[in-house]
Amino acid sequence: MFEGRPDRGAEIVFVGRSNVGKSTLMREFTGHRFDTGGKPGVTRSPNHYDWASEDFTFTDLPGFGFMEGVEEEVRERIKTDVVRYVEEHADEILVGVLVIDGKAAVDIIDRHEERGNVPHDVEMFHFLREVGIPTVVAVNKTDKVDDVDERLNALCERLGLAPPWQQWCDTVAPISAKRGRIEPLREALRTHLHEQGRDDLLGFVV
Ligand code: GDP
Repeated sequence: MFEGRPDRGAEIVFVGRSNVGKSTLMREFTGHRFDTGGKPGVTRSPNHYDWASEDFTFTDLPGFGFMEGVEEEVRERIKTDVVRYVEEHADEILVGVLVIDGKAAVDIIDRHEERGNVPHDVEMFHFLREVGIPTVVAVNKTDKVDDVDERLNALCERLGLAPPWQQWCDTVAPISAKRGRIEPLREALRTHLHEQGRDDLLGFVV
């Protein structure tokens, strides 16, 4: 189980499969760079961004799912730890951001389903909502997608959200972390913080 969580009463967590661009997004979002080592095979811990004086932290949870050179058992453990962390801190977590790879996610989901497996992204999305955490799916790498609307509609279908995606803009946020285009995510986070009466934290997501 992960250790070292700062004692903060409010939190926004970022979860996602490895290689979806979560580190890139965190850098873009916070302006902070973490040296994650980047070495496959090393079980990574959460990165807590709690430098501000407010009773708040962003948390970047370790990536799960397929990682080259990492054993199945290790990958499963990381995922279990992520799930446990979220369950344990569900009361403090104001919003969960599920980062997915907009270029690859639909194909990966379909491949898993064809094999009779529950895809990680779909599973995480439902899990976060089941524990009562308002969830935003940050669909990253949209710069690599030709028809973004079509792709987002396909994703909505896989997640059980009736298309068109535009009616879910508090839940589905198309972004390109690498290009610095993340405004739809910031906007969705502002909405969720506002709905929870936490306008005091809006400064973190402007
Ligand atoms: P993480 O494993 O989820 O933390 O992923 P990283 O942030 O390390 O990114 C994985 C790869 O995806 C890197 O090569 C990034 O440069 C690339 N990447 C991240 N965001 C984007 C994006 O918005 N567009 C594109 N085309 N590539 C991206």
